[in-house]
Amino acid sequence: MHPKGKVQRLRTAAPAAIADLRGRLTLKTAWLALFMSGLAAAAGAELRVGTGLGDITPPIGTPSAGYGNRRGAGMTGVHDRLLATAMLIDNGERPIALVGVDHLGFTYEMVQQVRQAVADDPLLSRTEIYVGSSHTHAGGGAFLNVPGIGETLAGKYDPAAVKVYVDGTAEALRKAAGELKPARVGLGYGRLEGLNGYRGDWPPNVPTLPDVAVIKAVGTDGSPLAAFFNFAAHPTVLSGANMLFSADFVGYAREHVGRLIGGDVQPVFFNGAQGDVSPRSPGGEDAFARCDSMGRALAVEVKRVWDATPVAEALKIETLKETYTLEPKPTSAGLLLPLPPQPTEMNALVFNDRHAFVSVPGELSCIYDADIKRFGGWLGFEHVSILGLTNDAHGYLITPESWRHMTYESTVSFGGELYGEMIKNTAFALLHALEPEGAYQADRAKPSSILTPAPAPAAAP
Ligand SMILES: [Zn+2]
Repeated sequence: MHPKGKVQRLRTAAPAAIADLRGRLTLKTAWLALFMSGLAAAAGAELRVGTGLGDITPPIGTPSAGYGNRRGAGMTGVHDRLLATAMLIDNGERPIALVGVDHLGFTYEMVQQVRQAVADDPLLSRTEIYVGSSHTHAGGGAFLNVPGIGETLAGKYDPAAVKVYVDGTAEALRKAAGELKPARVGLGYGRLEGLNGYRGDWPPNVPTLPDVAVIKAVGTDGSPLAAFFNFAAHPTVLSGANMLFSADFVGYAREHVGRLIGGDVQPVFFNGAQGDVSPRSPGGEDAFARCDSMGRALAVEVKRVWDATPVAEALKIETLKETYTLEPKPTSAGLLLPLPPQPTEMNALVFNDRHAFVSVPGELSCIYDADIKRFGGWLGFEHVSILGLTNDAHGYLITPESWRHMTYESTVSFGGELYGEMIKNTAFALLHALEPEGAYQADRAKPSSILTPAPAPAAAP
């Protein structure tokens, strides 16, 4: 039997069946033995999920971020609270936390502050933390300590505002770690046509991706615990004329997901590759009604996927992190970030060998989204999802051709003409290193080795 068939079976196999397969598979090849020992450890421990929520709404009067035409003015009120919502999955081996924040884009430095703020918690100190910014343009500003451009994008820098964002996110994580419950988890996918659209200047008429990814977590009695959902669109249903803090369509989507799934479910939203992707609201009498209808349409699809997604009591989790340094280079308009080289990171997360997620430190073009999904399909993944603006947010990640055509995105793209290609190639390398089967299996136990060529096999005696 081809290994692929067996791996496929494992995805839905109960622990007893996994143990049985292990006995047979370890006799076959070394890489399968390595793979199965990891899974057996996970299968032996109880899968647990915790959820938590924190408030990251800054004081009224704090500027927002995303629209230059507000010119750093303070927001005059709160329409809906800005939230950090966390889902912590602990399979007994590799705990991970996905925290969605209603924010234009947490910087790498802010993510490090979140990690430090929870480092005294025994579980969180060893949990891989992924902070995904929704990119709402009505979130809290004043967080960019960058002379000139920081103030243009996010208003005058205020460390007290940054503390609100970091503390609220840390609070969501602490609650999630404190409320772990035995859980069953499944992954499912849907499509939502017409809710997003391409906004790039070049190339013209690129189709956007309608993909919706859902991670479903329920208790052992089937009661809903957490609904992670992922979709690509700028949360810019509200314009720069709005002066009230809001999560834009994302807040409404979470509310509708909560209502449709019911119980105590905690919805958690991560944006996708939304770099050159606008929202397309089905309509409404005013801006908030348009947010509502968009959020409802997304939630209806999330609920459909939720209902169709089976859950299992074991979850295999593999991750790979690539840390690197962003060297600021002039944008296509000649603007250079007045900053020294910045540390940043990309990650791949793979669940049950078939469900891949790639985190990117900014706003990825839908062109690369399609490239990465296609490449992941070739490797054997059932689906690849992009976790946009995750663990950093340093601008648009676009193709060299778009950059040379001086698209809008290229004027807020700080890694130079070829930076998008580096992001794409790193995504490919991360996926290749975690591919379901193939030439790189022997490298599985060596994290962060993806840029180092594997040693040549020893010559046969
Ligand atoms: Zn944007």
